[in-house]
Amino acid sequence: MEVRARQLAVGRRRAAREALRRVFGFEDFRPGQEEAVSAALRDRDALVVMPTGSGKSLCYQLPALMRDDLTVVVSPLVALMHDQVRALRELAPGVVEVVNSQRGGGANAEAVARAVHGDVRLLYVAPERFGSVGFASRIRDARVGLFVVDEAHCVSQWGHDFRPDYLCLAAAARGVGASAVVGVTATATPRVAADIVLALGLRDPARVTTGFDRPNLTFSVVRCGGWLDKRRRVAAALGCVDALPAIVYTGTRAAAEELSFRLAGALGLGAGEGVVCYHAGLDPGARARAQERFMSGKARVMVATNAFGLGIDKPDVRTVCHASVPASLEAYYQEAGRAGRDGRPARCLLFAEPRDKGLHVFFIQRSRVSDAALEGVAERLKWAGLDGRYDVPVADLAAGVGFDGSHRGGARTESSSEDDVVRAIIGHLAAARVLEPEPAPADRVAGRVVEGWDRRALALCREAARDAERERWRGYRAVWEYVEGSRCRREVLLAHFGDRAAGKPAVACCDVCAPAGSPAERDPGLCSGGSGPRAPRLRAA
Ligand code: ADP
Ligand code: MG
Repeated sequence: MEVRARQLAVGRRRAAREALRRVFGFEDFRPGQEEAVSAALRDRDALVVMPTGSGKSLCYQLPALMRDDLTVVVSPLVALMHDQVRALRELAPGVVEVVNSQRGGGANAEAVARAVHGDVRLLYVAPERFGSVGFASRIRDARVGLFVVDEAHCVSQWGHDFRPDYLCLAAAARGVGASAVVGVTATATPRVAADIVLALGLRDPARVTTGFDRPNLTFSVVRCGGWLDKRRRVAAALGCVDALPAIVYTGTRAAAEELSFRLAGALGLGAGEGVVCYHAGLDPGARARAQERFMSGKARVMVATNAFGLGIDKPDVRTVCHASVPASLEAYYQEAGRAGRDGRPARCLLFAEPRDKGLHVFFIQRSRVSDAALEGVAERLKWAGLDGRYDVPVADLAAGVGFDGSHRGGARTESSSEDDVVRAIIGHLAAARVLEPEPAPADRVAGRVVEGWDRRALALCREAARDAERERWRGYRAVWEYVEGSRCRREVLLAHFGDRAAGKPAVACCDVCAPAGSPAERDPGLCSGGSGPRAPRLRAA
């Protein structure tokens, strides 16, 4: 018996390698991939946590193409979905389909019909599709093998992109009769990982974690006196040899616009040409142009809010600057990790000023959930629709609980924190079993009201809200320990994800570890390693 099982395992491994070469043209698996593929071929639930750019998609695409049933891939970003589908269709023509709101009803229906008929191996689906009863019951007629949830950290209240509608994906997976559920993410602290297992209902999952170390990245924190000083130092950093292409993240849309303009001047690169700007307030055409210029190498610097980046696979980014301190180390590591995906040396610079800290405190305090806000949302949803169902824009709820436009102020951060508060409240109400969220487009919330709003429910919600605030403070402490502490930056980052550094990195480790007297230590905002600043080209930023 055991011999037979071993033979089977060996056979599967050989077949997987053969398919890896034939379909993808890759000689070898990267760390973690073979384990994940093997779990998926054995119908075993899995949680795959691997850093950005390490090749997570292959972990489910390869087994999907080897299996003879349907793999459903739930992915939260339509743009990302289209990129993946386009690339995959070239490798495996005729067996990859996509269903989302950007396509017409006819095209979607045809894709589903082909899937049900058994002609499709991979079906990419936006999460809100499972809110449609028609869709869910159609898919039930297909033979579903793997049910994959990409960006699975969205299911965790402790993650930094919580989406309440992800909470019902476990039910969706069961509903379509999937034989295994696979969660995939790049950013999961041990706590978030445990949450994903619970929320996706993974049964004794194979856990594939490759470690978070990025040995080709150098981490530095640059303390700045204020915004002008920051601007100057960011410009200086980007003026160094081999600093470009670079991404500069700002905390607000206004800062992105101002800084892109200033950097264009300082670097002599031209605003809108060599330096482009990207945030969610720009019209889609302008965003697409900025992205295209940067991706194709025509623009050398991208100045953006966190709206830019998810799913962006530009391998040769040499520097990622943060011109303000992000709200959590998860967010920081995910964004900084867009540097050096090609494995060559790259730098991650975090520019911090004392004011950043005050802003964090302000945002946390402002997002404190009052009883009135909890009750406001519960009441609104109770009356929002017929027979206990609701489907409303997040912004309406934000307005309804007293977050009107005046709170938003002039400095727009991306996900407006009011919307985040509403999502958090929905999460608390779901935890108290007052609501059952259902999938909805990113700017809406939908679901069912299941129970009356009573004192017990209020107490449960309050507790969930307190937990959430504690978690935010934990994030705040972690990020500021990183900024203000004197421990090796890499060590702090890896410890945060429950990992340890695996030996010496291939490049200068960080500004803390840099040997005394090195340029990196004297002024990490300038240049690291042996390459000196390209000072003559710099003009005042
Ligand atoms: P992630 O989702 O983890 O951020 P992707 O799945 O988008 O990363 O993969 C990143 C890149 O790595 C892609 O260009 C992909 O083709 C490449 N890649 C994945 N697996 C391998 C492999 N085994 N060998 C070589 N390249 C790979
Ligand atoms: Mg991915």
